Amino acid sequence: MKTISIIGGGIAGLTVANILHKEDMKFALYERSSLQSNKGHGFIIPSEGLEILKTYVNSTDLLNDGNILNEYISFDYKGNFIDKKQLQNDFIISRKALVDLLEKNIPREFIYHDKSVSYIQKSTDGILEVFFSDDTSIVPTSIVIAADGSKSKIRTTLISDKLLRETGVHEIVNIFENSELATILGNQFLKFHHTDGGLSIGLLKVSATEVLCYAQFDINRYPLKEDSTIEINNFMQTNFKDWAYPVSLFLEKTNFENAHYWRVNELDILDDYFSENTVFVGDTAHSLLPFTSQGVTSAIKDAQVLIDSLKRNPSDYKKAFKEYSTVRKEEIAIHFKNGRLLRDNFLLPLEEQKNNIIPISFK
Ligand SMILES: Cc1cc2nc3c(=O)[nH]c(=O)nc-3n(C[C@H](O)[C@H](O)[C@H](O)COP(=O)(O)OP(=O)(O)OC[C@H]3O[C@@H](n4cnc5c(N)ncnc54)[C@H](O)[C@@H]3O)c2cc1C
Repeated sequence: MKTISIIGGGIAGLTVANILHKEDMKFALYERSSLQSNKGHGFIIPSEGLEILKTYVNSTDLLNDGNILNEYISFDYKGNFIDKKQLQNDFIISRKALVDLLEKNIPREFIYHDKSVSYIQKSTDGILEVFFSDDTSIVPTSIVIAADGSKSKIRTTLISDKLLRETGVHEIVNIFENSELATILGNQFLKFHHTDGGLSIGLLKVSATEVLCYAQFDINRYPLKEDSTIEINNFMQTNFKDWAYPVSLFLEKTNFENAHYWRVNELDILDDYFSENTVFVGDTAHSLLPFTSQGVTSAIKDAQVLIDSLKRNPSDYKKAFKEYSTVRKEEIAIHFKNGRLLRDNFLLPLEEQKNNIIPISFK
């Protein structure tokens, strides 16, 4: 059996690796980072994604590392109640915790860290060579699964480098230690909105001691040029000054050292999620707006559908890629549309926004 090459060890790449390992299929995964950073990233995961994850990672560890969300409550920035919605066991976890859990089951010898793809090259007879920044290269003998994220070097070389669009809404995401705020938040997902629209902040408990805060802002009305800790702190203290409790408590307690500024992009819809012997999964195939909270669930469902298709068509990867692409594109189109609706709603003044909108896209 030939070795499948996976490029990128994020959620999509690691889920693929977990499934291939379970199926006893040979693979090698190349990931650019040495250690996954916890800086500013966590995931809200709908219950569907949580249930699938439980089939790949130890479910007790998974539940211990994150937090179940039972209720979504929104307010205006003064703390006036807007809306409340029951959640169906949705979940939140830090990216680092989830990546660690997904890596745990995979033997070390199949994962190569510090392997950053710098470029790829195709010879005239169609053979692909992948070059890494440490001056090494590989010539994949089987298919390549590109899981190197929304800015994928593989996709931009094989398809186009002009497919990412500015979304107009950027985010600051911050995970920080504060047991007091974590206890106050419990299993509730709180979100506060400016009355003029285009500015909001969400607060969630990630674990007994950790809180995740994410601020979303219309970059045209609330410009932020630099992503230094000082600039992020200034931005947050200025724009969220006088917002209601517990936003005020959050601003008092965090120093934003761990915050990350995301200039959020969206990927145009691709014709197909593959090119010759390379197939795209996760954000490489479809970078959805964060409003959908569907990035992780979509990445793990991609991995499942792809490997299922490959198993059903062991000697015809082209047929498998086509099947995978057709199935997944149908669902992704719904999240793509929902993401835009959620974004457009967010930009409106509060009185024109539709109530009852949970920041999660469903099929
Ligand atoms: C601000 C923000 C908030 C979000 N919130 C949520 C949320 O609440 N819920 C949710 O489900 N989704 C959320 N998402 C989306 C989610 O982050 C992605 O959909 C998800 O991480 C996709 O996983 P992936 O494995 O495809 O890509 P990534 O997680 O981006 O992983 C790509 C991997 O490839 C590696 N890589 C990149 N380039 C190279 C290279 N050249 N060589 C080798 N390796 C490389 C990277 O180091 C990384 O490990 C959010 C996204 C943003 C920007």
